This record gives sequence, C-alpha cells and structure tokens, in this order.
Amino acid sequence: MIITDTHTHFYAEEFNGLREQLFQDAITAGVTRYFLPNIDHRSIQPMLDLEQQFPGHFFPMMGLHPCSVKDDWKDEMRIVEEWLAKRKFVAVGEIGIDLYWDKTHFEEQKMAFRRQVELANQYKLPIVIHTRDSFDVTYELLQETKKESPRGIFHCFTGTLEQAKKAIDLGFYLGIGGVLTFKNSGLDKVLAEIDLEHIVLETDAPYLAPVPYRGKRNDPAFIVKVAERVSEVKGVSVLEVARVSTENSGGVFGV
Ligand SMILES: [Zn+2]
Repeated sequence: MIITDTHTHFYAEEFNGLREQLFQDAITAGVTRYFLPNIDHRSIQPMLDLEQQFPGHFFPMMGLHPCSVKDDWKDEMRIVEEWLAKRKFVAVGEIGIDLYWDKTHFEEQKMAFRRQVELANQYKLPIVIHTRDSFDVTYELLQETKKESPRGIFHCFTGTLEQAKKAIDLGFYLGIGGVLTFKNSGLDKVLAEIDLEHIVLETDAPYLAPVPYRGKRNDPAFIVKVAERVSEVKGVSVLEVARVSTENSGGVFGV
C-alpha cells in the first residue's frame, strides 16, 4: 500500500530530532510520498533540507502562505519568484486567503494570490490553495482568471457540498485531512456525495491531528487514520482509498 500525503509541513521545528524515527514509522505504515507546501522565506531552507535528507520521498512547492502576507509581502514575493526561476518545484503553494486569523492585509492577500496564480500559469504548475473563512472570495478570484487558471488542490477542504462541487467544476481536487475524523465536522456527509476521483489525502502536519490524536502533534503516520475514515464513509477498502488518492496526487503534481 502506498499512501500519499499531499500537504505536510514535516520540515517544521516541531519535528526536530524526531524526523528519522517518525519517517521510519510512516514508511512502515505505507506513507511514502510527501508534498511540502512552503510558508515564507523562513521555511524554504528547512524544506529543501528535508528533500535532500530523504531523496525521492519529499516534493517541495514554492509559494507565500496568506498568513505570511504582511507589510513586507513584496519582499517575500520577490523571494518566491527568484526560487521559481531557479529550480523545479511541483506546485505553487501554499497560497490563498485567510480571514480567520487577521483581516488587516486582506487587500495584500488578494494581490499576492493573483500574482501567484499568474506565476503558476507561467511555469505551468498546479496551485495548492489555503482558504479559511474565505472559500467564496477565493473562488471569485479564481473565476477572474478562469481561462488560464491552473488546476490544483483546495487543501484542508472543510466546505459545503455546493462549494465542493464548485471546486471540482474548476478542475480542483479536495484535500481531505484530520477534520474528517472530528465529530460534528459534517465533512463526512459532504464526502459521501463526492467521488473518490476528486480527493487527495493530507495531514497538514504538525497541525490538525486526526482522532484519536486530536489536539496533539500530527505525525506523518497518522494519515492512515484519515484513509481509514475515508474508507468507512465511502464503503471501500483502505487499499482502494490509498490507490485512488495516490493516483490523483500524481494527476495534480505530475510525480
Ligand atoms: Zn499547510
């Protein structure tokens, strides 16, 4: 069985000193493919170090996270652009709009998002989108550039069935993670109506650990809990969930 984690921050310092062991545990559980979204200039080196440390398992993206869009966002964007010009990344991510933590830089978040969609088009890369309290506004921004808008993933999808269908109609996959295992998330009811062909799995490690680890550090092997819950909701084997979602990840990232 091969499980693909399409969204992990395994380079985060929460894992310092533990990576070797946690990686071995995850490999034993079948989790062999990891896609790494960037946050801002501080996460780039740890992310690229991880790619080097475990060759062939970790695939970095390049982008500026909406929560890192502050007054200096133009400097951050310059760094993103330099890296995209310098080497190959599997996606532009994670990018998007976050209105949950701080709305101060909403306008800048929109500008950074638009610019990064352009970059994805330029480099013919998919985009990995972070939305929080912002699905509709992000969807509108994607509509603006619909004609050339790249495909990708709505990471940590927790929206309604209507929003799920909108994302799928645009050619996007839904990133399903630990929230699916939370009681009363309602995501199970949405997922029940969505074909497996449209989803990918993710941890968002170290955040959003699935039940029974909710509230703790989210380790790479915990994605198995998400795959198990998807298998229950969809009435198919875990093996089938792993196979189809891994295939879908290949469809997005080209690896
Ligand atoms: Zn993330």
